[in-house]
Amino acid sequence: MLIAGNWKMFKGPGDTADFCGSLPGELEGIADGVSVVVAPPFTSLQAAVEALRASLVAVYAQNLHWDREGAYTGEVSVDMLLALGVAGAIVGHSERRQYFGETDETAARRAQAAFEAELGVIACVGETLEEREAGKTEAVLRRQVEAIATAVPKPGATLAIAYEPVWAIGTGRTATPDTAQEAHAFIRSIYPVEQILYGGSVKPENAEELLAQPDVDGALVGGASLDLESFVAICRTAARLSRS
Ligand code: PEP
Repeated sequence: MLIAGNWKMFKGPGDTADFCGSLPGELEGIADGVSVVVAPPFTSLQAAVEALRASLVAVYAQNLHWDREGAYTGEVSVDMLLALGVAGAIVGHSERRQYFGETDETAARRAQAAFEAELGVIACVGETLEEREAGKTEAVLRRQVEAIATAVPKPGATLAIAYEPVWAIGTGRTATPDTAQEAHAFIRSIYPVEQILYGGSVKPENAEELLAQPDVDGALVGGASLDLESFVAICRTAARLSRS
């Protein structure tokens, strides 16, 4: 199981150092079977890497650019992340797609750059409410997953796909366990990825029923990952389920 916290545009370096300073202690004894990732904003990555250096918790960026350097105002390259000791990146998050013009093609280019540098990738896919209501969920997932699949250079690349129905992100509206399972099984049927995470209003109260689904291999947690107690509770649930 993999539990990843996407902090979005929350927590500066001070709050990050506090959170990450306490996290390994809170996770003690539950490392078996659960990998934990935190993805702070770019300016907090260094604080996270320093605080988590001696721990098994990995630090991911929330995005990265496909070129090694260049005239790309506001972007951050793989080399810049590597210099900080960052272990991977989220790509194609729906907020990037919705607000910043991210497409399947740019998400795939970002993923490819990460793989070439041997960084891990959490690639996000998911349909909007409009697409779901129009019966297009599978077509959208197929298109998004196939784009990411073209970026994977070889088996063994560290890739997790996060299924995040857009209508469930930050809305408090969670997919039912059956809906999540159905989408995960579909993704697995078109691309044999080892880990498929569910994302969309995951919190301690609903983590168990979602993580218990056979094709749900972890969670990408937004809002609830900002609170140490909630994030640790979700990690503990994952640990318990992976042992049972
Ligand atoms: C996310 O940002 O990836 C996410 C799933 O957010 P939330 O858990 O807040 O819905």
